[in-house]
Amino acid sequence: MGAKADELKREVCAEVDRLRDELQRVSRAIHAQPELAFEERAAARLLVDTLRSAGLEVEAGAYGLETAFASEFGAGEACVAVLAEYDALPEIGHACGHNLIAASGVGAGLALAALGDRLPGRVRILGTPAEERGCGKELMARQGALDGVDAAMMMHPSSVNLVTMPCVCLAELDVTYRGQAAHAAAMPERGVNALDALVIGYQAVAALRQHIRATERIHGIITDGGQAPNVVPERASGRFYVRAASAEELEPLKARVEGCFRAGAAATGADLQLEWGAADYLDIRFNAALAERFRVNAESLGREFFPIEKLPASLQGSTDMGNVSHRVPSIHPMLASAPLHCTIHNAEFEKWAGSEKGDEAAIDGAKSLAMTAIDFLTDPDLRERARSLFESAG
Ligand SMILES: [Zn+2]
Ligand SMILES: [Zn+2]
Repeated sequence: MGAKADELKREVCAEVDRLRDELQRVSRAIHAQPELAFEERAAARLLVDTLRSAGLEVEAGAYGLETAFASEFGAGEACVAVLAEYDALPEIGHACGHNLIAASGVGAGLALAALGDRLPGRVRILGTPAEERGCGKELMARQGALDGVDAAMMMHPSSVNLVTMPCVCLAELDVTYRGQAAHAAAMPERGVNALDALVIGYQAVAALRQHIRATERIHGIITDGGQAPNVVPERASGRFYVRAASAEELEPLKARVEGCFRAGAAATGADLQLEWGAADYLDIRFNAALAERFRVNAESLGREFFPIEKLPASLQGSTDMGNVSHRVPSIHPMLASAPLHCTIHNAEFEKWAGSEKGDEAAIDGAKSLAMTAIDFLTDPDLRERARSLFESAG
């Protein structure tokens, strides 16, 4: 396979270079108009239009989500999915750099499509909304987005090049208390204070944090704390994230968190409503065979990788790519789009996501993903190793 694969790799890299201006334009446009989970309408439209103007057939609103899309091309048995995210964060916009994920995923897809009949298998480009909350990839997978897919891959920006992202499970929880409004001065004895209930629940969670594993995290915000100081708050609500290293450890932690919020209801008499997200985010099932190929391909572009085992153990996030990695062999490598000191989810990272350094990460990401897809489609041994690693990790 060597010579043929090498030639195809040279071609996809040349194609990404040819697409450089267009990919930069797409990335910068998404960056300039950040949209939240499930609302990424302009980004989805732009990406769908970009694929269609290259002659690809694209299904918009794919797999049950309005802002998802899918495009499949090629022929043959093996199928690789290349994923593109494009949602942003409230207030700080593209501080997770998902505009670069979109450009790298679509760029890789376009470069592979340009091979035409010489593409040695099938490629499915998936536009996957709602990564920051909502677990969009899991929702799409439940509707069949990964059916017939043998491997899935994407690139996430970072401040350092990594073969994967240290990752834990995450459950989203919306908490709402309902009490009884009353004049806070004239007749407080008639009131049932929903905010008090939430504060007691919040403090109970704070106490719980002392007695959880070092790999576990609970954090949240108050999204509604009442309307006026002179009215006993009738309604109060918050949003909390609960994280643990595995799905097995997450379940009992969720139960303990529920207990904290029930304490608030018991203490005040307010009614409690707990609403868990439609799907929990799972940890990443690491696939060394695929990750190694991505690393070698990215190194061929001059990237140097930081040894993942040297990262501080506390550094960890969550991604719905974890859910994908429990269904098919997957990779979630990270490429540096910002200087070392700069971490994701802050305003400085957002600026770098719209910079030339960010563009370079998207371009290198597109090339590395396309080259790794070629490795996968041309090398039956790699497919076999990726599959057996996936199964033995299960
Ligand atoms: Zn992200
Ligand atoms: Zn993020």
